[in-house]
Amino acid sequence: MSNIRFQALQSVANAEEKKINGYGEKRITTMFGSNVFSGRTIREYLSDEAYKSLMNSAKSGSRVDRRMADQVAAGMKAWAEERGVTHFTHWFQPLTGTTAEKHDSFFTIKSDGSAIELFDGDALIQQEPDASSFPNGGIRATFEARGYTAWDPSSPAFIMEAGSGKTLCIPTIFIAYNGESLDYKAPLLKSIAALDKAAVDVCHFFDKNVSKVTATLGWEQEYFVIDEALANARPDLMMCGRTLLGHGPAKGQQLEDHYFGSIPERVYAFMQDFEQESYKLGIPLRTRHNEVAPSQFECAPIFEECNIAVDHNTLLMDVMNKVAKRHKLKALLHEKPFAGVNGSGKHNNWSLATDTGVNLLSPGKTPRTNLMFLTFFVNAIKAVNDYADLLRGAIASANNDHRLGANEAPPAIISVYIGKYLSDVLDEVETRVKEKFSEQDEVILKLDIHKQIPELLMDNTDRNRTSPFAFTGNKFEFRAVGSSANCASPMVVLNTIMAETLKQFKKDVDALTEKGDKKEIAVLQVLRDYITKSKKIRFEGDNYSAEWAEEAERRGLNNFKTTPEALDAFVTEKGKQVFYDNGIYSKRELEARHEIMLEDYVKKVQIEARLLGYLATNHVLPAAVTYQNTLIENVRGLKDIGLDKKSYKAQLHLIETISGHIQGVNDNVEAMLAARKKANEIADFHKRALKYCHEVKPYFDKIRYHADKLELVVDDKLWQLPKYRELLFMR
Ligand code: ADP
Ligand code: MG
Repeated sequence: MSNIRFQALQSVANAEEKKINGYGEKRITTMFGSNVFSGRTIREYLSDEAYKSLMNSAKSGSRVDRRMADQVAAGMKAWAEERGVTHFTHWFQPLTGTTAEKHDSFFTIKSDGSAIELFDGDALIQQEPDASSFPNGGIRATFEARGYTAWDPSSPAFIMEAGSGKTLCIPTIFIAYNGESLDYKAPLLKSIAALDKAAVDVCHFFDKNVSKVTATLGWEQEYFVIDEALANARPDLMMCGRTLLGHGPAKGQQLEDHYFGSIPERVYAFMQDFEQESYKLGIPLRTRHNEVAPSQFECAPIFEECNIAVDHNTLLMDVMNKVAKRHKLKALLHEKPFAGVNGSGKHNNWSLATDTGVNLLSPGKTPRTNLMFLTFFVNAIKAVNDYADLLRGAIASANNDHRLGANEAPPAIISVYIGKYLSDVLDEVETRVKEKFSEQDEVILKLDIHKQIPELLMDNTDRNRTSPFAFTGNKFEFRAVGSSANCASPMVVLNTIMAETLKQFKKDVDALTEKGDKKEIAVLQVLRDYITKSKKIRFEGDNYSAEWAEEAERRGLNNFKTTPEALDAFVTEKGKQVFYDNGIYSKRELEARHEIMLEDYVKKVQIEARLLGYLATNHVLPAAVTYQNTLIENVRGLKDIGLDKKSYKAQLHLIETISGHIQGVNDNVEAMLAARKKANEIADFHKRALKYCHEVKPYFDKIRYHADKLELVVDDKLWQLPKYRELLFMR
């Protein structure tokens, strides 16, 4: 069989840019949302009564009653069928990290044997996927293996097109028979509701007209795109989403010529294609550009309500994977597909919006609205300060461990950057608000703050790109999230800790006003206290520097470098309490989730270990031995014709070098295998994860070192795995 790598290279050379019609005459506005059951469409297909009922549930998160559900289902079905839809599915986000669907056709047989197309309220509201094999952390023993998906009316139904098939997708939560959550969406909705309540209560200090506060999320998705044939020739990319071997190319990202550079044509065609699919699904994509590493790109939408934004991000990842195939490309969403070049993140821009149209993290125009801004701003910092470990836990994964702290992404230390002007404002509140407050102080302070804050708008350019949690003018940007993560995971934590902090804030302010303080003075007093208490989390310097790691340690900030350690935050007393108190997770749900995440970690490292062993033994070593034999024959020949040792010194040296690395690969693969066996004997999830982390994984680098050295010396013709320069630069 000829070399699979050369076949793949040949196929890249022959690859044509897939002709798509581009946007042509099409306006984005005309395709936007055409496959979504929302807005005007709903109006057209539902009676007034059903429409109102659905809108009301979408807003309040309450159930749609059974009779109305029948009407909504009928409207959805009529709409979908007109568009050629034959099947429907409850679409959900189990803890596998991908989305799940089980398609049912509208078609059914009535008792008299006649065939009809049916989709009623029952089918819309609830389904029972017979899938007992989703991660459940012991919540579902097999004898009670029922799980339910339940319609989430706050996220609109949509039509997913795949090839010539069209399916009506109903966004749902996924829960066990007893109501315990088994997915990302159920806790997300709870956290959104908890934050709504707590934030509205605090808004009422300033504005009684506010009746709803929604968390908003605008994600930025980084990804790599490589040729599919090359990806298929790399078992590690296929099975693990990242390369486990491969020497760095002569040229990487050091020339910094990729960032914002012109987009390669094949990729450009792919982008336009997935953008159009996204627009049909109502995903409001706005920007696209090249990222820092070769073959790395980014896209970002206009921000949306948090629940919908999360759905749209998971949907987008699915769409990207499907559309890439049409272009014979592969989209890599892994956090670190290639060693030595930047990995991919998913910045989560987060803010709070009121139903009166105010962004609570946007500085106001009057002293009163500025005080409201300061309140939410300071509470957010306090929340991160008090629960930094939970935020770190929320972004922990085997994949993200490769990226955090690798001088391309924020470190594992959580800190908050707010910029110079706001630092000055907070300093001022801290120093000028006195224990005993005078009316005079209040006036000065409010006016001073008010004068300063408009300068903030100019502060927008003053960005600190190294901070994991940066204030960027009217929102916080959580930058440590991994590119393949479900945004719900960080959002649940962020919403919950903010809800908790705001609840406490209200109590603290109420306590002062009950003692007779004026409300605004009480607010400032508590803010001052919070500013002082959360000072240690604020950092304006270079988060990538070694000095920061030391400084953070002095400040008592944690630096959990690995996933098993970071996940502990979910089972500390403090961590558990904040989830219980805000009704996000029960004890069993939280423990199950912790176990699922640890298990996921173990499985990922285990799969990588197996594959690395395979690649080293079945690809690298045979190539090395074959080449070494050629050298040996060469030496023999030279000897036969009577040349002395001096004439084949280089060959002898190479033969020895190769032997050394073969030995290195082999010994480490064997040692890794032994370590894995030991780890697998451990029943306790936590201990097993630690064992995999500290005793199995370290062999990855050792094996890789020798294998990559062999790649450099072995005859190129014999090397079966596409090389980094080919993966990163050929398309
Ligand atoms: P950049 O950070 O790249 O300079 P922007 O500041 O315009 O660009 O926004 C970056 C991201 O922040 C976008 O995805 C956008 O949707 C999101 N964003 C902007 N405003 C908000 C908000 N109020 N809430 C949540 N996300 C927001
Ligand atoms: Mg950003």
